[in-house]
Parts: sequence; structure tokens; C-alpha cells
Amino acid sequence: MTDPASFDPAVGLCSLCEHARQVRSGRGSRFWLCAQASEDPTLRKYPALPREACHAFATDVSQPPCDGPATG
Ligand code: SF4
Repeated sequence: MTDPASFDPAVGLCSLCEHARQVRSGRGSRFWLCAQASEDPTLRKYPALPREACHAFATDVSQPPCDGPATG
């Protein structure tokens, strides 16, 4: 599940995207990997950050879009 509170402005959209994976190197560096890049050749496996726009951005679709029914 994506936690909106986990947004990282240094990373941008990838910090909230369900396709993003954090990878640590043997030296302790942290990278953001885009799992969707294996299916979409327009995406980079390691996106340039911060990512401000992305056509493939996706959040957890199992969560409701709002807390309750619309009124009015
Ligand atoms: S789909 Fe876009 S926003 Fe999501 S991890 Fe890949 S590059 Fe980042």
C-alpha cells in the first residue's frame, strides 16, 4: 500500500508509485528502480529524480479514492 505521508520531494512521484522499488548497493547507496520499465520502453529502469510527471504513475488501486460518498 502507498502511504501519502511517505512523499519525498527529492524523489518526486516515484516515492508514491506502486511501480517503484528502493534498491541499496553494497556500499549503502540508495537507488529507486522503476519496475514498470521492463514493460514500457519509454521509462528508464533508474528514473532521473525528482520525477515530477509520469504517464505510468500508479497508486494502490485497492484503496478507496475518498472517505465517503459524494453529497449534493
Ligand atoms: S512508473 Fe513513473 S512514477 Fe512510477 S516508479 Fe516508474 S518512473 Fe516512477
